[in-house]
Amino acid sequence: MPPQTSEDDDKPFFYPLYGPREPRKNDDVVPSSVLERKSTTSTTATTTANAETLIDELTKLPCPAFTPHDSCPKGYLGAREDCWNESMKEWPSVIAMPSTVEDVQACIKMVPVVGHGRVAVLSGGHSAMCMPNDAFLISLRRLNGVVVDVDGNTVTCGGGAKIGEVDAALKPYNLAVPLGTHPDTGIGGLTLGGGIGWLTPRVGLAIDNLVAAEVVLADGTLVTASSTSHEDLYWALRGGGGNFGIVVSFTYKVFPVGGADGFEPGHVLGGIVPFPLEHFDRATVIEKYGADCLQTDADNVQMMLLPNGGPCISVFTHHGTMADSQKALDELGTGYSNNNNEMQIMPPKEGVKAIPWTDGVQTLTGMGDPNGAGDLLAPGNPFYYTAGFVEQITPELATFLAKAQQDAASQTGIHAGGAIVIMPLNGPFNDVPSKATAVTARTAKFWVVFLLRLDGTPNDQEEGIAWGRSLKKEFMAMEGVVTDMRLNKPGSSILVDEATHSVLPSQNEGCVETMRSIKETYDPENLFCFASLSK
Ligand SMILES: Cc1cc2nc3c(=O)[nH]c(=O)nc-3n(C[C@H](O)[C@H](O)[C@H](O)COP(=O)(O)OP(=O)(O)OC[C@H]3O[C@@H](n4cnc5c(N)ncnc54)[C@H](O)[C@@H]3O)c2cc1C
Repeated sequence: MPPQTSEDDDKPFFYPLYGPREPRKNDDVVPSSVLERKSTTSTTATTTANAETLIDELTKLPCPAFTPHDSCPKGYLGAREDCWNESMKEWPSVIAMPSTVEDVQACIKMVPVVGHGRVAVLSGGHSAMCMPNDAFLISLRRLNGVVVDVDGNTVTCGGGAKIGEVDAALKPYNLAVPLGTHPDTGIGGLTLGGGIGWLTPRVGLAIDNLVAAEVVLADGTLVTASSTSHEDLYWALRGGGGNFGIVVSFTYKVFPVGGADGFEPGHVLGGIVPFPLEHFDRATVIEKYGADCLQTDADNVQMMLLPNGGPCISVFTHHGTMADSQKALDELGTGYSNNNNEMQIMPPKEGVKAIPWTDGVQTLTGMGDPNGAGDLLAPGNPFYYTAGFVEQITPELATFLAKAQQDAASQTGIHAGGAIVIMPLNGPFNDVPSKATAVTARTAKFWVVFLLRLDGTPNDQEEGIAWGRSLKKEFMAMEGVVTDMRLNKPGSSILVDEATHSVLPSQNEGCVETMRSIKETYDPENLFCFASLSK
């Protein structure tokens, strides 16, 4: 890393959206507590001698592999920066960085050679499980190629690609895949957990459009999972997380976006509509949004953003003609204002205009500059992040969410730049039979995400996390929240939120049983032990 002068101290630090990352300032040495620490998988501390043996073995790999004991730790520390959530960034004992399928196979075969048995996998690094202590981490960030098959209507993406990389490859063709809403998120964890995005109300989840996946299994063999090959694995990958193998490529169906009558190719009507607090009561807006979303057609897709202490904000997109889009925008907010019986007050709509799909809609949650200065979801910050599925936004749920939005502003340990987000699911998502994939909550109509950025001293942050957990507990018990969510059920060995701020799709017990039996077939030794089924 270039020497950092005092001038650097004044410059804000930003993470590049793509490409390799550098260690952060004041974070360019491995702390001695890590170097001297006993491994949780072995009874002895890693001595200089066995660290040297490990490093020696790793040089036999065809790709880079870093350890905390490397004489120059820049590669190791830079690779750690791919973990989005600062509060979940731990210290793996190895970080291998394959860029081909063969590299991944070589890494898997190296695991027992170096006496390891615990493999973690990183795609975009947005989950709580991508950077665990003592893991043999296989970071797929360099396996990020994207190949578009325009004639076949598909795109095939490396297992470590980010949403933004897929979008960029599809942009020249005005095509898109239903992935998530922030370009920094990896397609790996996102797809294996379901994958909810702007196109979900139109064409379903990422997994509903996953045609095939190539997977390196725990024994290093490469298989294809699809509707005609390894069908059990294909089922499990669609919502079952990274429990079954390393997905080296995902092939999805693609869809045309934008360019309806009145728009340039690839453009739609989109932008932000705030509901100022002096005229709009938060709970009323949330409830009416919930009801309106269930009435609209699939062209009208709105997310409701509830920034801490701020007004409710509709993030509006419309795929129809200019006339239809404008009509839907004009109607947005009708009957939402406080003075229902008097003259209607409508929210300001200047923030909505014709915008490109890729560089417009797909950057909205990153405030138009993903990972840049104004992006509240930029990597490198501590977060309590959790979510749940909802069948109906009842008045009680709307009141609860409005109160949480308000309370977050004065809650110790919670940063001003957090938000609750409500994303619509209704449409093709509901048409998929519950047993068809490992996401079983197909009656849900909304996905509610609590993106609580943490702030202050470690003690403050603990308080913030405790508050987040209590919110989640209350939320899960409310009417309208899908009841088959098993995350926190006592006795379930699915990852418990307490330890990791995890997010999993809703899965009922039958689904979990089937996943366990498929895990038994494909990963009997539990090599992929940092995924949801096994921690
Ligand atoms: C800011 C932010 C925005 C988000 N927005 C959305 C959204 O709009 N829609 C949505 O659905 N979700 C969203 N999420 C949730 C996100 O989908 C999950 O956190 C997901 O796990 C992130 O995927 P990743 O590849 O970036 O994470 P990683 O941490 O890299 O991966 C998560 C886990 O998945 C497994 N895994 C990843 N890649 C592979 C692979 N190729 N093969 C095998 N196993 C693998 C591993 O077990 C890994 O631990 C968001 C999260 C954040 C933090």
